[in-house]
Amino acid sequence: MDRILRCAHAYTLEDDGLGYLEKVDIFIDGGKIIKIIPSSQENKAEEIIDLTHHLVLPGFIDAHMHTGMNILRGLAQDTSHWMMHGLGPFAQVVSQEEELLGSKLAILEAARAGTTSFGDYETNMDEVCGFLKKMGLRGQITATVREALHRVYAPGEIYEFDQKMGEESLQRNLALFEKWNGKDKMRIFFGPQGADFLSAELLLRLQRLAKEKHTKIHMHVQQGDRETYQIQKRYGKRPVAFLKELGYLDKSLLAVHLTDCLDDEVKIVAQSGANMIFCPASIGIIDGLVPSADVFQKEGGMVALGSDQAPGNNSHNLIKEMYCAALFTKIKRQDPEAMPAWKVLRMATIEGARACGVDESVGSLEVGKQADIIAIDLRRPSMSPVFTHPMRNLVPNLVYSARGDEVDFSMVGGDIILREGSFIKDELEELFEELKGVPESIGHRAEAGFNEVAGSNYRWMKEGLL
Ligand SMILES: [Zn+2]
Repeated sequence: MDRILRCAHAYTLEDDGLGYLEKVDIFIDGGKIIKIIPSSQENKAEEIIDLTHHLVLPGFIDAHMHTGMNILRGLAQDTSHWMMHGLGPFAQVVSQEEELLGSKLAILEAARAGTTSFGDYETNMDEVCGFLKKMGLRGQITATVREALHRVYAPGEIYEFDQKMGEESLQRNLALFEKWNGKDKMRIFFGPQGADFLSAELLLRLQRLAKEKHTKIHMHVQQGDRETYQIQKRYGKRPVAFLKELGYLDKSLLAVHLTDCLDDEVKIVAQSGANMIFCPASIGIIDGLVPSADVFQKEGGMVALGSDQAPGNNSHNLIKEMYCAALFTKIKRQDPEAMPAWKVLRMATIEGARACGVDESVGSLEVGKQADIIAIDLRRPSMSPVFTHPMRNLVPNLVYSARGDEVDFSMVGGDIILREGSFIKDELEELFEELKGVPESIGHRAEAGFNEVAGSNYRWMKEGLL
């Protein structure tokens, strides 16, 4: 036996609820959970890990991230034109090497707050897979496939497609699949960026590939009025109707955002067997909207959580994402019983695993599954006091009070990532060394564009308010 985790409180996330267990030992061997029994004195293992003042959970699954953009953290909030006035001037000048630094920072930030599975999504993912492997973390990784040329379009102009660019990005996604899928804790998905960014032919080719390779399509769906406009102009219908007619709505689809969907459209996507990724903090900041994840669930659909990107959301922290998912849905429905804490914890774990098609190996603490496990320190003020009778406040405390640094221990496939809140492989110091001068350099290159756009943050800087 490799290890026994001696736990005060554990939620297994088995079946339909949270599966609460008090005082249990979790036995781990060969990277998997092999037994969960009431705590005993059994000590026949290489190591006994004392989690007797902890809340033990399956590791969190962040299903949708753009970690590379993290190099631009904090540069694109509080603006009504996120893409143009916020992100645009900076995104245009960032290099691939700088993006990789951003990815590493984002991954460490998320892992520190309990994320064990990373749903990263960008153009160049090979080195991100390499970093996840180095850290011992798990990935469900997607490479962006896109045909629409990157340039400034006039209002109302339809995107110009470039077949060569589409083909190259598809081949990049395919190469990533062949290199990493099924190896080193990685799954690779196919990533059409959105129905508006690719021709129908390329969308269908990707779908055929995903089915042939038994993997998922990970795509932004009806993510804003810009997408709705493009699809309406091109095909005479709204994105969900277009995708339905194309035969794109089925269980192989991981649909991100659904921001611009009416509730009836959300229902159509859910009923098709497709899955949803809900990024409440990012969509709240970028659009001031709350996608209808609750409607999706009521129709029997599976919803995962995603932190999306840091120049917008400002963080990669699934505990914060659970908080926003619960709070925003309550406010949207004007109903305090909407989206309870236990439900958002399921989205961060087993429901997220089901949505991503990885629930046979992760998402719950069950015999035979991978040992992806985190432990929350209950001796932190934010997690105290602990009640177990007549009601347990462990999960409400986690969702509504914790901040992320209460995560004290984590392991992925039996490999320990965090002990007493510190990384086993500490990359941070080296990373901060590499980051020296980078913000100054990006700022210098972006300055002219930032001034020209003259968005809200530019004005507030000018007025000395920011
Ligand atoms: Zn995205």
